[in-house]
Amino acid sequence: MSSDPVPSGGATGAGMEPVASAQDRDGIYRGGQRLDHAEAASRPLRPTPEKQPRGAKIRGDRPIDQAEAAARFIAAPEHEQMHDARLWDLRQKRDREMHVIAEWEELRALASAIKEHTLTHLDEYLEQFEARARSNGVHVHWARDAAEHNRIVHEILADHGAKSLIKSKSMLTEECGMRHYMASVGIEVTETDLGERIQQLDNEDPSHVVVPAVHKLRTDVAAVFANTIGTDPDNSDVHYLAEAQRAATRPLILDADAGMTGCNFAVAETGTITVCTNEGNADLSANVPKLHIASIGIEKVIPRLEHLAVFVRLLSRSALGSPITQYTSHFRGPRAGGEMHFVLVDNGRSARLGMQEFWTSLKCIRCGACMNTCPVYRRSGGLSYGATYSGPIGIIIDPTFNARKYSNLPFASTLNGSCTNVCPVKINIHEQIYAWRRELVKQHEVPFVKNAAMKAAGEVLSRPAVYRAAVATANAALEHLPRFVIYNGLNAWAKHREVPHPPKQTFHSWYLEHRGKEP
Ligand code: SF4
Repeated sequence: MSSDPVPSGGATGAGMEPVASAQDRDGIYRGGQRLDHAEAASRPLRPTPEKQPRGAKIRGDRPIDQAEAAARFIAAPEHEQMHDARLWDLRQKRDREMHVIAEWEELRALASAIKEHTLTHLDEYLEQFEARARSNGVHVHWARDAAEHNRIVHEILADHGAKSLIKSKSMLTEECGMRHYMASVGIEVTETDLGERIQQLDNEDPSHVVVPAVHKLRTDVAAVFANTIGTDPDNSDVHYLAEAQRAATRPLILDADAGMTGCNFAVAETGTITVCTNEGNADLSANVPKLHIASIGIEKVIPRLEHLAVFVRLLSRSALGSPITQYTSHFRGPRAGGEMHFVLVDNGRSARLGMQEFWTSLKCIRCGACMNTCPVYRRSGGLSYGATYSGPIGIIIDPTFNARKYSNLPFASTLNGSCTNVCPVKINIHEQIYAWRRELVKQHEVPFVKNAAMKAAGEVLSRPAVYRAAVATANAALEHLPRFVIYNGLNAWAKHREVPHPPKQTFHSWYLEHRGKEP
């Protein structure tokens, strides 16, 4: 059981009340009382847990070496097997939920059509959303890019003398690097989503859009909490850890000067936003402090309230295989005596809208289903992509931010199309990944060796006679070549595989022999 995944729910913080005493190491105390429901129920099975593999090395704008980081993840078998099994479990749960809904394919088509309609009338719906939100008493701001977003949020906080901010999970704020920016200007940010808080305390980015710490074992979390909030490093019981984090975080939530949420859907006709969580942490972030700031990607707008029903039915089923998120919270305006601010962020979205082959990636509702089904993602971990967005959708989005830095990512795919099949808004993900490969070649962002190898392969594969001659030569060579010629450090393919024995007869010659003509 040491391979249990980390839960994706709960509360967060630092500076908890007394943790375990010498006599009672499993206990959590609040107000002098021992919390019995935080009793440890299990103990770690291994005295020296497997070390957590870290993500891709970031070296400025140099291309991320996803394969190198993936190899390190695969070399940690407990992590790799847990990650693969956990995400495949989510995929299977998603399938079960899908089969319960007879009109599933119609829902997908409808969701896709609503998104495409909205994106092709984005200016109108954004203006409508802004006008309605203002009439609801919300302050609306526009941010061209990440820097402007961070500056606007900082100015709002500074205007209110706010020094501490609690926030619920938001990939947009990750994209904007907001946490690091706020640290640089002296604002203390506390994540209220348990998975996101684990990642914050470990100084790591989220590895998945829905389950940010899914790549961690319980023992990894025990080590992080032991270092940061003083829990027992040998106790990796999930109840104990979750309760410890709750006890540590609640005081920070109650004392925070401001709260922040992301936004799953922004409804143009009402000027309202909807946030879906499983922990209720968006409600804490929005409702405990009087100042609520919401960061909203401009692609999150949908025309009407009735459209929410389509997306809410698809989102959680696709993400976690559950019929609905525990909380679907709607925010309309500031509460009495409070203030609400919406920051509408472009950060490259308008430019992507103009990219003929990639604009439909803006339909994404960040459910993570494409990640859960992807064989590369499941086995290499989200941090191996070295980017805010990982997995199949990340491969499409990331190069729009920086084609050179993320030029290797579109090759981290088998192009099997499973991502496209599960996508609730019918994005042709694997086709866009393939399109990125072509685009990167055009932009000269593919390494010379790979480019030359692909060109050579193209020449061989497009000429049947040359291909057959090459196969015959390769088969004969494989029988006689010394082993080191194939299994050496230069051939990454052979690092984890054995080349199968060549068949005595190729399919082509068998066909000619038995059918007597060209297939
Ligand atoms: S691309 Fe589709 S499947 Fe992937 S996260 Fe976005 S909506 Fe979900």
